[in-house]
Amino acid sequence: MSGTHGPFEVLIVGAGVAALEAALALREHAGDQVQISLLAPDSEFRYRPMLVGEPFGHARARGYPLAPIARDLRLHHHVDRLRWVDTDAQQVHTEAGLALRYDALLLAHGARTHAAMPHALTLDPDRMDEQLHGLVQDLEASWIRSLAFVVPARAAWPLPLYELALMSALRAYECYSETVVTLITPEDSPLAIFGKAASDAVGQLLTDRGIKTISSAHATVHTPGTITLYPELGQVRAERIVTMPELYGPAVPGIPHRGEHGFLSVDRHGRVIGLERVFAAGDIVDSTVKTGGLAAQQADAAAESIAALAGVPIEPRGLVSMLHAALWDGEKYLYLQGRATGAHGSSSKATLTPLWPSTAKVNARLLGPYLDALDGRVDLLPLIASAS
Ligand SMILES: Cc1cc2nc3c(=O)[nH]c(=O)nc-3n(C[C@H](O)[C@H](O)[C@H](O)COP(=O)(O)OP(=O)(O)OC[C@H]3O[C@@H](n4cnc5c(N)ncnc54)[C@H](O)[C@@H]3O)c2cc1C
Repeated sequence: MSGTHGPFEVLIVGAGVAALEAALALREHAGDQVQISLLAPDSEFRYRPMLVGEPFGHARARGYPLAPIARDLRLHHHVDRLRWVDTDAQQVHTEAGLALRYDALLLAHGARTHAAMPHALTLDPDRMDEQLHGLVQDLEASWIRSLAFVVPARAAWPLPLYELALMSALRAYECYSETVVTLITPEDSPLAIFGKAASDAVGQLLTDRGIKTISSAHATVHTPGTITLYPELGQVRAERIVTMPELYGPAVPGIPHRGEHGFLSVDRHGRVIGLERVFAAGDIVDSTVKTGGLAAQQADAAAESIAALAGVPIEPRGLVSMLHAALWDGEKYLYLQGRATGAHGSSSKATLTPLWPSTAKVNARLLGPYLDALDGRVDLLPLIASAS
């Protein structure tokens, strides 16, 4: 089926994990039956999961220029930002004043961040190395006696804080520093969303590194150096307190955001509830946890539905919702698996061997192997061929 004015036009907003996975999946399912445009201000795709290593002297997180990716996937990239959506006219209005038409729209422009603890160091993914560089130096020189990592109570990116706590404890040990590292989390147990087996393994790893873990605790930092824990768990003092921002949905004008705090509610096929031609995937979606792996699965589900809408003979399978993550402790990866719906059973797993084929840290079915190919680890041609 083609759009009213020519080929079926898919407009993807964003150029993160969800957007690029969706573009790859659309090419896989629909080939050139669809014309795909990307609307995003970025000139490169920065691989955020590797940012945690930078302050500790590990390799820099790689940035992949978007221009060659757009060429590979035959995408038209509008370097601009979404301003509002006119669903009646099937148009997206941009900050630069363009009106971009679509037959299907995929909103994949992530979450907004908000620093909720003014007296803690709230990490900004764009400046993490700069923010943590001095802290790591102080840790190495034994100038910090206590360091706490606090997982915010609201929707957040949990993985990086666990990784930073593990890497800090390792660095302190390597430098004969006696810094006490504490991790405070509102979860009932460490990374509880991945289920019992995975959580137990993460808990053991934290213990082995000498990290004191306080769970089921909602924390606030009203004064520098003091973390108050609710409900009535007392206070923890720490010379340095590090946290991640809380996440909010971007509240897209023209799109009803029925999810909490501006996140978008979608059905299991990624369709925004109540809108026939608008889909959403990734951190923008109302979900209990925000990970790149989940973003990619949501993108895959949405891409299948969009391909079907474009007339491709495909039966969309819907979201699988199996959570995967690779927890990096500075020396090795602990691969985690659990069911996002909460019914874990035997699905909850932690292993030292990879649970997915690509070497990428985020388990994205197509983007992982594609990035491996860009890194020169596997041959790019079969991937691009399957997308044409
Ligand atoms: C430090 C760090 C480490 C992490 N580690 C892991 C990990 O190990 N494993 C894991 O699974 N997850 C990890 N995550 C979480 C993961 O990065 C996110 O869940 C994932 O990036 C979400 O992908 P997304 O495509 O939804 O959003 P994003 O990756 O945030 O991409 C959003 C895109 O939208 C664009 N955009 C924003 N506003 C607009 C607009 N108005 N118009 C057009 N474009 C716009 C942005 O420029 C960007 O291109 C980590 C996160 C951080 C911060």
